Amino acid sequence: MIMCYTTNQPIITNKKPMRISYSALEAYKNCPLKYKYQAIDRIKTPKSKEAVFGTILHSTMKFIHTPGILSPTLEQAMEFFSNSWNPVVFASPEEDRAAFVQGVKIIQDYYRQNNPADFNIVNLESRFQIEIGEGENKHIISGIIDRIDRTEDGFEIIDYKTTKKMPVQERIETDMQLTVYLSAFLSYYPEERKKLDKIKVSLYFLKHGVKLTASRTVEQLKEAENLFLETIKSIEAGNFEPNISPLCDWCGYQNICPMWKHKYKETLKIDSEEITALIEEYIDLKSAISLTKNRLMKIQEDIVTYMNQEGVERVFGKNGIIARSLRVTYKYDEKQIQNLLEPLGKWQEVLKLDKTALKNMADLLPASLKKEIEKAKIEDKKTSSLIVKKG
Ligand code: SF4
Repeated sequence: MIMCYTTNQPIITNKKPMRISYSALEAYKNCPLKYKYQAIDRIKTPKSKEAVFGTILHSTMKFIHTPGILSPTLEQAMEFFSNSWNPVVFASPEEDRAAFVQGVKIIQDYYRQNNPADFNIVNLESRFQIEIGEGENKHIISGIIDRIDRTEDGFEIIDYKTTKKMPVQERIETDMQLTVYLSAFLSYYPEERKKLDKIKVSLYFLKHGVKLTASRTVEQLKEAENLFLETIKSIEAGNFEPNISPLCDWCGYQNICPMWKHKYKETLKIDSEEITALIEEYIDLKSAISLTKNRLMKIQEDIVTYMNQEGVERVFGKNGIIARSLRVTYKYDEKQIQNLLEPLGKWQEVLKLDKTALKNMADLLPASLKKEIEKAKIEDKKTSSLIVKKG
């Protein structure tokens, strides 16, 4: 049965709620198009070596902490890791060896820093489903919490990470995943809501041997819920724009993604030497234009300096004359114009929203009002241009 995490009552609703996993929501936030390929079109891609490595380490951590009479020794943990190892995903024996050695080091370091017998484990890899939103906007988020410990005065929710990069502490203070996990925990332990400050949420970065810990407030839980509801709204509205980011390097959909598939020319129906030549020529011309523009600006500066020095307004070359021209721009006195046009009923016609002024002013407004202004944005016209990125 699905429970509401705010009331801890079963959900009863006529509208079918959207069921979405936390990882799918995160995928959408990183790239809506990738989410579509994955969750809507259900296009399968091979698991990356990083994902396989992470899965093996997660199951090893589960083995280490599975409650029993005796906790597994380092040797037993190594044996488990070794038996779970999957060399098939690695491109070469060298890559396989390096990843295996890294895994061994992670487990050794883990045992050096932690004694598994010291922890009071409440749950491992526990699946959850929580309801967010109200009325017609009820949705269900699911996920898996790696580990929940009972601490001296409360609980600790831990998620293992096998990423190369470790974020700064501030990121942990607002990490969405941990906030959702805490909401899920509270839906099963509602009485703990009164002692939020006694519940820690942590990300354990296994490659670094570092655990970063924070806690959450009721406001943060509500904020996260609103953010997810907005994300779900955007999915329901069918917004699936691609988002180029460093994560594209690990995306298995590059060969079908409009932002990348031209790199995989064999998948395109139309390609020819002619278009290849045109692409090269366009890039070359664009960079020539930019060089020319810079040179023109420099020459203009020098000529103006010369004109000032010599007190001349025109200079003569073999192929033409360069004259200095003065351009004056004017603006209208708003009050006077209003006085003239209002009696004729024409004033409203000339009043147009100044987008730049609105944007500058919006930056100074409270966040809620800024959001309302954003919501009032409607598409005017769409134009496309070509942007050249060298390299
Ligand atoms: S390649 Fe990048 S832009 Fe394209 S779907 Fe994947 S993540 Fe999105």
